[in-house]
Amino acid sequence: MTVAPGIVHLVGSGPGDRGLMTARSLELIARADVILFDKLIPVDALAGARADAVLVDVGKIGGGKQVPQETTTALIVEHALAGREVVRLKGGDPFVFGRGGEEAQACAAAGVPFRVVPGVTAGIAAPAYAGVPVTQRGMAAAVAFVTGHEDPAKPETQIDWPALAAFPGTLVFYMGVRQLPRIAGQLILGGRPADEAVAVVQRGTYGDQRSIRGTLATIAEDAVAAAIKPPSITVIGPVAALHDELAWLDATRPLAGVTVAVTRARAQASALAVRLRDLGAGVVEAPAIRVEPLEAVVPDLAAFDLVAFTSPNAVDRFFDLVHDARALAGPTVAAIGPGTARALRSHGITADVVPPRSVAESLVEALARVPVTRVLIPRAEEARDVLPDALTARGAEVVVLPLYRTVAERLDDEDRAAALGATYATFTSASSARFFHAAAGTLAGPRLLSIGPATSAALRELGHEPDVEAEVHTPDGLVEAILADVQVRRHVADTPD
Ligand code: SAH
Repeated sequence: MTVAPGIVHLVGSGPGDRGLMTARSLELIARADVILFDKLIPVDALAGARADAVLVDVGKIGGGKQVPQETTTALIVEHALAGREVVRLKGGDPFVFGRGGEEAQACAAAGVPFRVVPGVTAGIAAPAYAGVPVTQRGMAAAVAFVTGHEDPAKPETQIDWPALAAFPGTLVFYMGVRQLPRIAGQLILGGRPADEAVAVVQRGTYGDQRSIRGTLATIAEDAVAAAIKPPSITVIGPVAALHDELAWLDATRPLAGVTVAVTRARAQASALAVRLRDLGAGVVEAPAIRVEPLEAVVPDLAAFDLVAFTSPNAVDRFFDLVHDARALAGPTVAAIGPGTARALRSHGITADVVPPRSVAESLVEALARVPVTRVLIPRAEEARDVLPDALTARGAEVVVLPLYRTVAERLDDEDRAAALGATYATFTSASSARFFHAAAGTLAGPRLLSIGPATSAALRELGHEPDVEAEVHTPDGLVEAILADVQVRRHVADTPD
């Protein structure tokens, strides 16, 4: 029996910042049966892949073990011929020094349909993130992208140095720093001014991007002095000097150089991760928990005078089961805190009662003057009984409706090491603290950041005093707490004794 061939997508992942991945690339990653990926792709680029997708690391990185190109090409064709939808995910753009052209040719030769999804190339993005526009009116009306052998021992045959030296515009080199003496030397020899501006950008657009500025005469030494390492992009031309004026990254990224481990469930982690990355932090997603929906039947809500929601998850799961917001028209609606109230609002419900602090005790207090005879509490299976107990003690009839449970998520060695090596580990619930501790075996290493009192108590039970507790018990509050802590610690570090 012959199988109809699948399809191959040659997809660019952009240069490193996950935010620079195209919408199309994320769609295709979410759909693929097989993903063959390179080393230089954004952290968490594959986070949206299907749980049952086959992920193949065909990464090649200067010096390291590498999968030969023929093997990669053969794998792509093989998977497609077996009828699978293949994503070949490459750093930057697949057709810019990415050997995507060869892979496309192999598909064409094998009769495998393919599509190309361009990506943001490092040669434009890394300079841009260092404040260097590769073209600029009056300064550079052309730009050349250049690569060559990474191995200085091999004779360089591909590059026509005199022609490059004569090129009337910006030169962008996708080459290792070890090549800098040769690049600079050959260009000066070819007649480019020794004082021409040069910028080198290491790990452009990644959270730990670094850049240096020099001239053709100095750049090789400058790079050694600054210990610049691959991957890096070198930009040569007057535009490189604009770095001095336009380097915008540090000014807008107060959390540059800080890494934050996010332990909450993947489904909820992304908003927090996006916010942290936007501020320049490196984010390690180490989900310790997963939300597992439980089968449940929601009773007739007309029989209750109060419905009290104790988490955003409970709200979302409730509205999976109840499809009409009017079902809540009768009873008083209470939310345990601002996050839960926000989740209700997204379903068209404005909570009647919201305590300022997201803890059960505060909700009990806030409900003190609300007359209650019959209460429904949609919540997690394992939630604390503070609220039901308090309402029962007041003589109310309490119906607890477990809608989901949080279960432990496995943590692989790499995620564990990255999370424990982070500057901060964030805990957004008592269960994320417990499950993370169980999965990682320890909490030693990062500064421990708790979202609020219940989470802090869980950390203390595990033998760890939280270093910081957020004043506002929401993800935004956590971010504020990190910003404040970083500022205080930088200030302390800068103050001479
Ligand atoms: N297809 C890729 C380039 C692959 S060639 C693209 O379009 O960007 C690999 C070279 O690209 C590296 O040796 C390095 O010189 C450069 N490079 C890739 N990602 C980079 C990054 N984030 N920062 C700096 N240089 C990068």
